[in-house]
Amino acid sequence: MSIQFKDLQLNKPLLKAIADKNYETPTPIQVKTIPLVLDKKDVIASAQTGTGKTAAYALPILQLLYDKQDAPKKGKKIRALIVSPTRELALQISASFNSYSTYTNLRTTVVYGGTSIDQQSDVLNKGVDILIATPGRLLDLYKQEIVDLRNIETLVLDEADLMLDMGFIEDVFKIVRICPDKKQILLFSATMPDKVVFLANTILNNPEKVSVSPVSSAAKNVNQLLYYVPKTKKIELCLHLLRNTIKGNILIFRRTKFGVDKLEKTLFNNGYKVASIHGDKTQNIREEALNKFKMNEVNILIATDVAARGLDIKNLDAVINFDIPNVAETYVHRIGRTGRANEVGTSYSFCSADERTYIAPIQKLMGKNIAVEEEHPYPLDPKAKPEVHKKAGSLHKKSRKSDASKKNKKRWY
Ligand code: AMP
Repeated sequence: MSIQFKDLQLNKPLLKAIADKNYETPTPIQVKTIPLVLDKKDVIASAQTGTGKTAAYALPILQLLYDKQDAPKKGKKIRALIVSPTRELALQISASFNSYSTYTNLRTTVVYGGTSIDQQSDVLNKGVDILIATPGRLLDLYKQEIVDLRNIETLVLDEADLMLDMGFIEDVFKIVRICPDKKQILLFSATMPDKVVFLANTILNNPEKVSVSPVSSAAKNVNQLLYYVPKTKKIELCLHLLRNTIKGNILIFRRTKFGVDKLEKTLFNNGYKVASIHGDKTQNIREEALNKFKMNEVNILIATDVAARGLDIKNLDAVINFDIPNVAETYVHRIGRTGRANEVGTSYSFCSADERTYIAPIQKLMGKNIAVEEEHPYPLDPKAKPEVHKKAGSLHKKSRKSDASKKNKKRWY
């Protein structure tokens, strides 16, 4: 018999909320992590989004807090802090905490940049048990003495790799320092590059290591197709496939924000229902785009890797890699978004001459080759050399970054 939620020492209010969500059995990361968190251990977990990692820390945190609950509403102190690199993720985490805590008096709030501090400060003043925050806004609120972290018992660093990629290392160290010395730290990361290992070694206390589904197994349920195509013909190939082959809910990845915008315009002009997300868009616009996709108002979402990371986007029929990522793990994360829950999804990857060198490491990581689709109208000449674009009259390559992007160096995604 497999392990059930009731075997995990969770109380009735939590089990009831889990039943409401129609979760039947705990996922592997939940089975491994929940007992460790309840045991107050520090944990370093390697788990991607989609594995159920949020509940793996949210449920035991709620259980621990529930056991020592303050009087309802009055005088609550923040006892659990979850730090998340992006606003979308923070919102998603907060929605999870809210639904799992339905039958408790535990209160959660979420704070992130780009919105009014006053409103967030009102909610904080009323008292919450669990705070979910992006690093910058959290430190702002701390400096203004709006948030009090002296009672933190558990600190979660979610998507730690992304947090470091986005340049938040100093902020993370600061947050760890501000919290009391004696605290439990849980670090979750999709990948474990050296800098994450360094961070973990520096801040965690004798951590238990948990890891689930090695990255390669994410690709199991995905029918992967590779199209060799000249760079200049990728848009035509995309339109051709959307007209004839790819139907349903589609997530298209592009490497740059410029590329996302350009493709969105083209698809829109060709009558497709499309939305996009990337780091130059305001919070509201990104949320609106995501909601449109989730509510089926549009069936195509175009995103950069970082903007899409961690987002719980369900029911995808296909993923298009409009650009091939130069990091093999990124490819596996992208295609792992389709073919969830025992359904077979399809990924379509467009590879131009200058991206050919990225394919071998991807295939090596997955331990299998990607099927090459040769029957399409825009084949790449096998001898084609990588294309170098030069602007006439300029010695230097003109930057294609938007003005917003140039102003805000930190947000490169
Ligand atoms: P996460 O990896 O935390 O982003 O979770 C991915 C999705 O899995 C979310 O939509 C969760 O609601 C869902 N989920 C989490 N735990 C379970 C479970 N034990 N059974 C079914 N679905 C789950």
